[in-house]
Order: sequence, then C-alpha cells, then structure tokens
Amino acid sequence: MALISVNPATGEILREFRAWSADDVQKVVEKVHAAWREWRSVELTERSRLMSRLASTIRAQRDELSHIITLEMGKPVTEARAEVEKCATACDYSAEHSAGFLSPEAIESDASKSYVRFDPLGVILAVMPWNFPFWQVFRFAAPAMMSGNAVLLKHASNTSWCSLSIEGLFVQAGFPENVFRSILAGPALVPDVIRSRSVSGVTLTGSSAAGAAIGEVAGRSMKKSVMELGGSDPFIVLVDADLDLAAEQATLSRTLNCGQSCIAAKRFIVESSVADGFLERFIERMHARGVGDPLSESTQMGPMARRDLRDQLHGQVEESERKGARVVLGGKLVEGPGAFYPPTVLTGVEAGMPAFDQELFGPVASVIVAGSEDEALDLANHTSFGLGASLWTRDVGRAENLAGRLEAGSVFINGMVKSDPRLPFGGIKESGHGRELSVYGFREFVNIKTVWVR
Ligand code: NAP
Repeated sequence: MALISVNPATGEILREFRAWSADDVQKVVEKVHAAWREWRSVELTERSRLMSRLASTIRAQRDELSHIITLEMGKPVTEARAEVEKCATACDYSAEHSAGFLSPEAIESDASKSYVRFDPLGVILAVMPWNFPFWQVFRFAAPAMMSGNAVLLKHASNTSWCSLSIEGLFVQAGFPENVFRSILAGPALVPDVIRSRSVSGVTLTGSSAAGAAIGEVAGRSMKKSVMELGGSDPFIVLVDADLDLAAEQATLSRTLNCGQSCIAAKRFIVESSVADGFLERFIERMHARGVGDPLSESTQMGPMARRDLRDQLHGQVEESERKGARVVLGGKLVEGPGAFYPPTVLTGVEAGMPAFDQELFGPVASVIVAGSEDEALDLANHTSFGLGASLWTRDVGRAENLAGRLEAGSVFINGMVKSDPRLPFGGIKESGHGRELSVYGFREFVNIKTVWVR
C-alpha cells in the first residue's frame, strides 16, 4: 500500500510513499525508546541549545518548507510561510521558558524538605492532521521534547512529505538520532503502537471520531492522552458590536486555511437588531475573498486539502438546505480537477441541521439570529463541541462576565480565536481534553513527582 500526496489545487499526484508494515513500525518504536533513555538525562541547557538551533534551521528553510506545505495541502503560500515562522517561534519560546516551567517546585509539608519534580514520561505518539501540517506537530513536540520526552509522529496520510521534512529538520538541527521519528502509516497500525510497552502516551489532533477511537485504546492500556479535536466555534455579535470590525474578522476567521481550522468561527450568532447590518457587511467581504492558485502571492484562499473532504462539506451544505437553511452566497461545487469550494454563507440555520450540529470544515459560515443576549449564549452552548468562542461588543466588562458562561476552552473578546505559545490551548466536551502550549502544555506529558525528605 502507498501513501499518496496529491496537489489539491490541480489534482496531480506529487509523490508516493511506501506505507510501513507493522514490523517496520515496531522496529522504529524500539529505536525511539532506546534514544529516549539517553535523551531524558540530557541537561536542560543542552536541550534548550538544540531547540534554539531547530528554530534557526526552520527559519533558514522557510521558503522551501512553505512551498511543500502549499503543494501538499493547498493553503496559500503566504499562510504557509506564517505557519513555518510560528513553528520557529514556538521552538524559541520552549527553549527560553523550559527552565522556568520545569524547575522543581518547593511545597511546605511535614517534611524537612518536600518538592515536586517534573520528569519526562517517555515516548509519546503524536497522531497529527494535515490542516496545519507543521504547526500542529511543533506546538506539541517542542514542549514535549524540552520536557525530556521522545516523539513518534504519525502524520496524516496525505501529508507524508511534510512529515519527512519535519523529521529532517530535527536531524539537521543536531538532535540525537531517533529522538524524533516519523512513521509512514495509516490509522490501522496506531492501536498497537499505543499499546506497546515502549510508548507512554499519545496525543491526537484530529476529528472527534478519531479521538474516540484513539481514546478508547489509550484508556484500556492506561496511557496518558491529550486530545485536540474538532470544534464548531460560536462567533457572537451583540447589539453594540463594531459591525465593520466584526464582519472583517468573521471573514478572516471563516476563510483562513480555506476554513479548515479547528478554531475557525463556524456559527455566527447575531442579535436580531443588528443581524441585517452584520450580514450585509459579512456577505460583501466573503464575496470579495480572492480565491485561486495557492502558490500565487496575491491569493487569499486556495483549495480545500482533499476532494473527498470538499464533497463531504458540500453534502453537509445540501442537507442543511434540505432542512430549511438558505444559501445566500456560494454553495456550488467548483468545476475542474482541484478541490476548490467557494466562500459560502448560509442563513436560517437551526439546531437539527448539519450546519448547526456538525463541524463544517471548510469555508461555509452558518448565520443564526438570536432574540436576546441570553438566547445567543444558549445557542452558543447548544453544541457537543467546546473549543473556542468569540464575543463582539463595545462593552468589554459585560463580555468578560459572559465569558464565564461560555462552554469553551478559550474566549476571545473582540478578536478571532487563535493559538499563541504563551497561552494554553485546548477544548472541553467533544473538542477534547488536556492543553497544549504555555506552562500547561509543558506539564501534560510529565510525571509530576513528589519528593519528601525527613
Ligand atoms: P482525522 O481524520 O481525525 O485525522 C487526523 C489524524 O488521525 C490523521 O493522522 C489520521 O490518519 C488519524 N486517524 C484518523 N482516524 C483514526 C483512527 N480511527 N485511529 C487512529 N488514527 C486515526 O482529522 P482530519 O480530517 O485530518 O483533520 C481535521 C479535524 O482535526 C477536524 O475535526 C479539526 O477540527 C481537527 N483539528 C483539531 C485541532 C485542535 O487543536 N483541537 C487542530 C486542528 C484540527 P490518516 O490521515 O492516515 O487517516
């Protein structure tokens, strides 16, 4: 079997990779485990030095790496470049802050001395998605490796070129052999890797369905897991919002990466008295989005990453329309060999429609009108997801009060939801559990060990 990378802008096959057998995978698991036994005793200062070199290695190849990302999954090359730069920033941040985040913490007790150490867990399997094929990997791997863990990456089957490129960066930066390895395999081999005695934990960034499958195996084998799953983030526009700013940011949030972001705003919940004003501004901006060749510097939105995903999204739009939603912009399949889908706006969206209940992983916005602020909050929480949420209002004090009532891992007030190495990132409900980034991310895959001295 082969893992095939297809250019989603043209439909052409870029590269084919031999899929590994279970035996190939197991051999690499053992190599990574052996490498971890050395890596865990490497001084933090040396790990930091390597992580800083990794940042420089990434920056030195920014253009080549962003080109690979764009070819393999279709995001505009300007976005790919920003993604690569963000990875370097995360490496720098991890190098600079690890001493502070991982130093032992003294705690007073009945002992003459008692404290907590943060020791590595071991080999962590990272099952990753194609949508931010570099960022998702680095935002987990940089803190996890600074904490002394080794990493085994199972990337999405359509981004094997990115996967091998990332592995190459660790080698070029001078990391010890096998502390970071990619395995080229489909989902079927994942359960045995999780169950392996040489693997101590698993992190998944992906769909809630994959989360349920991986979480079950992790649970049965008592392996620590972090789940970064799907979302259907509400974008709540209150009566006193700056409608121009809200419409501009709504458009960006829904169309960046062709709408294929877990924290993209997906349900636009607008108070009724400003609904028309918001909708007019929003449709105008969505319509003006420059869709085209993702390698062109002026393109604002490229194709979706795969044709099957594009067709699945279109099915969700059609089903919502059958149930009463109105397509007021886009909503038609684009002809041609690529995986293009137009910026699309649906109105009249209600619970019971895919556009409300499910994650729409593409450039389709669901607009929902709320009669009051309370109803807006109820609608926002009426979902199985709980990743991010944004609130748009000129009354920040009021918004901060409302933030406490939103069922989400993060609330952004007058800003679109984004990730930042300094801030914890993650969700609740079917959006997953555990956190990445910040001190909280550093302490996910560690043994929080108590030491008590008489
Ligand atoms: P996906 O189908 O779940 O795939 C993600 C990864 O999981 C891939 O490596 C995939 O392998 C693997 N996988 C899928 N099913 C599996 C199973 N049953 N057992 C083991 N591994 C399995 O998700 P996607 O379509 O690539 O990515 C989009 C999803 O990711 C969206 O739901 C999005 O919201 C979510 N996401 C979440 C975050 C976050 O931080 N919360 C960030 C980005 C994306 P193959 O490719 O080989 O099938």
